[in-house]
Amino acid sequence: MASDEDGDELSGEERLDFLRDRHVHFFQRCLQMLPEGYSSLETSRLTIAFFAISGLDMLDALNVVNSAEIIEWIYSLQVLPTEDRSNLSHCGFRGSSYLGIPFNPSKNPSVAHPYDSGHIAMTYTALSSLVILGDDLSRVNKEACLAGVRALQLEDGSFSAVLQGSENDMRFVYCASCICYMLNNWSGMDKKKAINYIRKSMSYDSGLAQGAGLESHGGSTFCGIASLCLMGKLEEVFSEKELNRIRRWCIMRQQNGFHGRPNKPVDTCYSFWVGATLKLLNIFKYINMEKNRNYIMSTQDRLVGGFAKWPDSHPDALHAYFGICGLSLMGEPDIRKVHPALNISIRTTNRLRELHQIWNSKDYTSLSENAHIST
Ligand SMILES: [Zn+2]
Repeated sequence: MASDEDGDELSGEERLDFLRDRHVHFFQRCLQMLPEGYSSLETSRLTIAFFAISGLDMLDALNVVNSAEIIEWIYSLQVLPTEDRSNLSHCGFRGSSYLGIPFNPSKNPSVAHPYDSGHIAMTYTALSSLVILGDDLSRVNKEACLAGVRALQLEDGSFSAVLQGSENDMRFVYCASCICYMLNNWSGMDKKKAINYIRKSMSYDSGLAQGAGLESHGGSTFCGIASLCLMGKLEEVFSEKELNRIRRWCIMRQQNGFHGRPNKPVDTCYSFWVGATLKLLNIFKYINMEKNRNYIMSTQDRLVGGFAKWPDSHPDALHAYFGICGLSLMGEPDIRKVHPALNISIRTTNRLRELHQIWNSKDYTSLSENAHIST
């Protein structure tokens, strides 16, 4: 269990090394074979692949995977429109091949299946992974993806993950924002409603919650602030006074590493969720870097690679990825710079913008707006 002492014990001691090569091997294993404990995540397999693929990108080690093969696999998970386009609101990407639908990496119409539908987090991580692997998204049915996302927005502005039987909250507002940003087309959402939802989620203590009236949380604060940055609307939505209160709430989350809520233990992943939010709010430089680094490094698995949420715990794909991204925010050598709003490397973000320019120059017809965000 993490406590204040963990980071303090380490400070003043020998600076722990970042074991880059161990982490490269860790992510390679995540793409090949996972421990039994991961089996319940089968339907979300794409998200685990994203952590590994983006993790390897952050380590400048994509050469260790067969990008072309993974790209084919990701395309095979695209839920495409059927001939009669009656499933348009179900389009996007599914998390894995669990439904047993025939392998089809093409852009051709799909076979109808009553339970086949995209999941907003899978569509987001599929698009991110494709761009990271160097794909140009030419086989993505952009119109169908956007129709699928649009169908998931509720009257209150929030998004569900799937059409039936899903929660709706700030996590999926963020996924929708990333999808629209990556496809360079905001017709996938009613921005005004989404912005209103984010505003209303601000709690009495000035952190952002999963929705109105709920408890402030580091994860939902990241999702709300990053979404507004991707829309280019942060300063329009919150006044300087409000932004200062959000800044204060976020910076108070540092103990040695960061926690997600007052009185909760610190956890490696919040070094990214809260750290990236502070970066977007331009006050990351005021954190205690040494304590933050010491905490993250205390959760590094020196034997098998990866990071855990707490010291002396098992590493997992999510915390391995966000531990590395947390270190990236502080300029750790051997790690590429992470884009604090898009959650991929700056290098990949630049490639994405090049793609957008190509689409623009080809007079990409369904373009409606161009989002811009400074890094
Ligand atoms: Zn965590």
